[in-house]
Amino acid sequence: MDGDERNHARRLAAWRDDPGSSAILTDIDGTLAPIVPTPDMAEVPAELKKLLRRLSEAYLLVAGISGRKTEDARKLVGLEDIVYFGNHGFEILRDGEIEVITEALPYLEKVQELEQRARDELGPLGAFVEEKGITASIHYRNVPKEIGERCVELVNAEGERLGLRITVGRGVVEARPPIRADKGTAVRRLVEEYGPRRATFLGDDTTDLDAFRELEKLREEGVLEEILRVGVASEEGPPEIETEADLTVDGVEGVGEVLRMLAEEN
Ligand SMILES: [Mg+2]
Repeated sequence: MDGDERNHARRLAAWRDDPGSSAILTDIDGTLAPIVPTPDMAEVPAELKKLLRRLSEAYLLVAGISGRKTEDARKLVGLEDIVYFGNHGFEILRDGEIEVITEALPYLEKVQELEQRARDELGPLGAFVEEKGITASIHYRNVPKEIGERCVELVNAEGERLGLRITVGRGVVEARPPIRADKGTAVRRLVEEYGPRRATFLGDDTTDLDAFRELEKLREEGVLEEILRVGVASEEGPPEIETEADLTVDGVEGVGEVLRMLAEEN
């Protein structure tokens, strides 16, 4: 442990002394579940599930914030009693109920049109078109590079035609309504609603940077007293996930260490 790590360990100890004022917000794929070739193969290790259950009993809020549909996020994590903010901030699931943010609803048909086109043209080439409702995800991790490029091209062109917003992540291109809804707006909504004094966010990819940046804004505004941005390092992740983090950990195992520090009793 170097000086920085000891400092973080001390800070995390303060969090677990006052869990009722602290929120644990986390990405799921690549953070709680190791990255695998197709999203349906992803799994959260049993030990992490156990830790998250313990944390959800003690802390003010434990929420999984994911690009996935909220129902998929819940199935993957396997816990009923945490909050899931899914579809990049468009959908929230808690107490068994799903809510789509109302500003997004007028775009539902356009997203479905793009999804159908991807299914017809990119599906036969080997891309995996994930059914997601208010957003569309086309996965190309497991196809040759030129087909991946074709996926990005087609989704970009269709997105422009239909007036949708397109983003590219690790082996996936996504279409969504052109309104601001991302992991940052999800973090803000949860913080404003639950009112923690401290909040942490753990993430590994480009879309997680929105959450990091919103946490920083919330601290600047005085809404949060303390934040902790935990970056999960990987070969495919963007460099900012380390440069903008307060603490960088190595893969899902490193996330386990942070969660254990948040959970351990003195
Ligand atoms: Mg991720």
